[in-house]
Amino acid sequence: MKNKRDILLCDLDAFFASVEQLDNSALRGKPVLVGGSPEGRGVVSTCSYEARKFGVRSAMPMKKALVLCPEAIVVGGRMSRYKEAAQQVRKIFERFTPDIEIVSIDEAYLAVKAGAGCKTGLAIHGAVRDELNLPISVGVSANKLLAKIACELAKPNDVGTLWPEEVETKLWPMSIRTLPGIGPVAEQKLNRCGIKKVKDLAFSPPESLARILGSSAGAVRGYARGMDNRPLELEHEAKSISEEATFPEDIYDREDMLAVLMEQAAGVGYRLRSAGITARTVTLKLRFKDFKTITRSKSMPETISGDSEIYLATKKLFGAHCGSGPWRLAGVQVSGFEEGSQMSLLKPAPADDKEHILTATRDVLREKYGSEVVFQGKRLPKKKKEDF
Ligand SMILES: [Mg+2]
Repeated sequence: MKNKRDILLCDLDAFFASVEQLDNSALRGKPVLVGGSPEGRGVVSTCSYEARKFGVRSAMPMKKALVLCPEAIVVGGRMSRYKEAAQQVRKIFERFTPDIEIVSIDEAYLAVKAGAGCKTGLAIHGAVRDELNLPISVGVSANKLLAKIACELAKPNDVGTLWPEEVETKLWPMSIRTLPGIGPVAEQKLNRCGIKKVKDLAFSPPESLARILGSSAGAVRGYARGMDNRPLELEHEAKSISEEATFPEDIYDREDMLAVLMEQAAGVGYRLRSAGITARTVTLKLRFKDFKTITRSKSMPETISGDSEIYLATKKLFGAHCGSGPWRLAGVQVSGFEEGSQMSLLKPAPADDKEHILTATRDVLREKYGSEVVFQGKRLPKKKKEDF
């Protein structure tokens, strides 16, 4: 079955050590160990790639690490700084999709529209590198298991894929330890039964696997065939996508405001469709000349993802709540997400549905040339005709 969405695993490389090297140029290119003091019973929390060459690994006693790599520089770790950097990375993720499962401070799964995974992975890798100067590896596939393994294969600092059709050639020759649910004890037991590679596991009789692995046998056998239906565990807080702008000068004209809202509606619509989701609620935010700010929402009987549908709901809200102006700020937000893209060029909407075809065409243009090429007749008021 074709996957509905692509899954990405984004994992910052040697995260704490990378942040230390970023903040202190004297540490760059050197073996760096973040963790507890070697005098006590400290362990290595993270080690830079330079230190890994000496065989140092995380969770290793600091004393042992320093025997392996005597020239390593030990730093104590600054959790608040790492949290701050992780938050900046997360802000980058949120540009691409609201569907994010935070696994740990340096690791997250993202779900995007099927077919958009590679492009998104490369864009995230580039943004984290260019804007934050941090190395990150991204694995792209159809499920969490394969995305995770793709990421391991891509490390460090690269983007890789492992698609279900590559399971036989790439996953089967790997050691069974590659799979989640196989720790050192299970590995030993399975090895004794002659099960060493993932392929052996894929063809083991379920009953004998159940004797060794207990209740997880079924899932692990599925993993060995590249199958994984674990959903992303999204956070429960309200999720939304929004665009908002404070104007350089207050806007007095209602038509100009509608032009701004149309652009914002198109912006959030594009992001919804890129993520492969639809939304039930549209929210308009307005700030008036006296700084009074209002937000007004409208929920739809059916979820939507088209630019025009979002714009029409926004326009209604504006008509009802705009007051007399002038306005200093406007924003459009969508929330109440459901999985599943309503439109796609591959699976076209009914032929008479011109709006859906137009939207899908605009999305292709946006992906190819960026948002500036696509417009709908109305433009932001600041841009005059001669600009084009
Ligand atoms: Mg990491």
